[in-house]
Amino acid sequence: MADVLVLRAIRGNARTLNLNSKRLQQAPRALGSLSQLTNLQMKNNLLCQLPPEVAALSNLTVLNLGNNIFEQVPPELKYLHSLQTLHLFRNKITGIPPDVFDGLENLLFVNLNNNQLEHLPPEIHKLQRLEKLSINHNLLKDIPKELCVLQNLQELHLGNNQLETLPEQIGYLTNLKELHVYRNNLIGLPEGICRLRKLRILDVAANQIQSFPSRMNEFPLQELYCEENPLLKREPVTAIQDEEILSLKEMTARFILSHVQDRDSMIREQIQHYPETKKILSSRNICDLCGKWFLDMWLECVKFVGIKKKMKTSSNIQLLPVKILICSYRCFNQRQSDMYGVAVQ
Ligand SMILES: [Zn+2]
Repeated sequence: MADVLVLRAIRGNARTLNLNSKRLQQAPRALGSLSQLTNLQMKNNLLCQLPPEVAALSNLTVLNLGNNIFEQVPPELKYLHSLQTLHLFRNKITGIPPDVFDGLENLLFVNLNNNQLEHLPPEIHKLQRLEKLSINHNLLKDIPKELCVLQNLQELHLGNNQLETLPEQIGYLTNLKELHVYRNNLIGLPEGICRLRKLRILDVAANQIQSFPSRMNEFPLQELYCEENPLLKREPVTAIQDEEILSLKEMTARFILSHVQDRDSMIREQIQHYPETKKILSSRNICDLCGKWFLDMWLECVKFVGIKKKMKTSSNIQLLPVKILICSYRCFNQRQSDMYGVAVQ
């Protein structure tokens, strides 16, 4: 039956071929004669590989292989240089061959929902034109930072995975409009997320988030979904001690940092000779109250900011807890009344 359809397509010089739901265990080899084909539909079959002949489909822009039994993204896809839309949802995919992205430079949309992927290869950065990536319902444990160089990406769907963090570099996705990360294990969001000036929808429902990054309220979100998170409540905590004991490393770091901050040219120059020290100091934080720099001992506080009227949110929330880092108990005791202590790092 499928062969008849392929032959008919060859004779008719067809641009679209529909082989959905044909119980195919193998894709017909005659497909290779359909070089004019732009749209190939083969969802709801029993395919686990593609024949080498598909390499001839140089004009194919849409390929639907959803609901089959592929265990990896078929390596033959790398020959489909015109491909723009790729559906591979509902397969059994656990891996992506790194070189499959080599020839997919025109891909705009990839749908890998409902598979078993744990990782994405860093080579994903080769999909330079990608606008929408959907990997809901997989087993993703991390996101490679290389994904964050995809300058055209507008929608990223990562719901129902096992992510505990998002890369700080996510802020480089400057054209991102929608980020869906519901039902993961995120314990927080990177500060970098506040650089996403075009982000309109952020869905982080059902994670482990207690507070949001400090500049969270500055970016023009239209929709924020954050239900089913252990968001901090507005409960005051008082300082339990007046002065803390800093480690030698922290004291030294603060000493050097304060000189750098005061534009002490001698220290600035000296530091250039110690790349290791420079590297350590580059991970400094800034006190939200006094503005001074510190290294890695701080008091974590939370501030509650009102949600903009125009923003659509989960129904149970009016105030958003945002994270504030403070350098010392001295600063903590001078804090504004709307700030609450959370934990000592
Ligand atoms: Zn301070």
